[in-house]
Parts: sequence; structure tokens; C-alpha cells
Amino acid sequence: MSNRRRPSAVPLYHAMYLHSRAWYARRARWFDHATTLGPLTCAGCGRTASRTELELHHLDYRGMSSTGGIMRAFERDEDLLPLHPYCHDLLHRLIDRDQLLSRNRTRRDATHIALSRLRPKLQESA
Ligand SMILES: [Zn+2]
Ligand SMILES: [Zn+2]
Repeated sequence: MSNRRRPSAVPLYHAMYLHSRAWYARRARWFDHATTLGPLTCAGCGRTASRTELELHHLDYRGMSSTGGIMRAFERDEDLLPLHPYCHDLLHRLIDRDQLLSRNRTRRDATHIALSRLRPKLQESA
């Protein structure tokens, strides 16, 4: 996780979850699986990257759960998207701050719209 993420943009529960052991384990399993499929690429700029260079963005938070204070991670593989911290940060600036973009949309749809706006900018600087 990047420390540059503004805490105000992330609900406390999500922030706690993203530091939980369950999430670290889920993230490791995601990368273990993804690296068997081919080279990892950033969903923003499209460049190939190693797992240590990438963060995972949630397209859907439904896999996140907490029972009796114990966090559990049940995200499906397709609910997570690899991004450089920089590209991830830009994505969050768009979907967390652009009310029009996020209103009445699922996080998945808002993410795809935001990425379609970001990709041309990120890829031309690549
Ligand atoms: Zn990137
Ligand atoms: Zn994210």
C-alpha cells in the first residue's frame, strides 16, 4: 500500500482491512495465480511490472468481510486489478472525487470509465 493515499478518501473500515493479514494473504494468492497466466501488466499505463511494483485495486469490495473483529478476504480474482502506486493514485483521484463518475454506478463501472479516461494519458507518457 502506498502511504500517499489520502485517508479521507477511504472509509476507516477499508483502511483497516487493507492492513489486515487476510488482505495481505489474499493479495499474495492473487499474484501467485496471475503470474502463472503471463507477465503482469499495469491496468493503467499498460507497462509490464513485477508484483512488488504493483498494488491491487478493488473493483468490488463485497469479498471483504469481518466477523467478530476478524477480517476475511474472499475477493474473486476478477474483482482485483493490478496498478502501479502512481497509476492507482490517479485512478482513485478520479473515482473518489468525481461525484458524477461514481454516482449511481458500481465501483466496477466507475473504475472502467475512469481507466478509459486515464489510459490514453498514461500510455502516451510511457
Ligand atoms: Zn502503471
Ligand atoms: Zn484502489
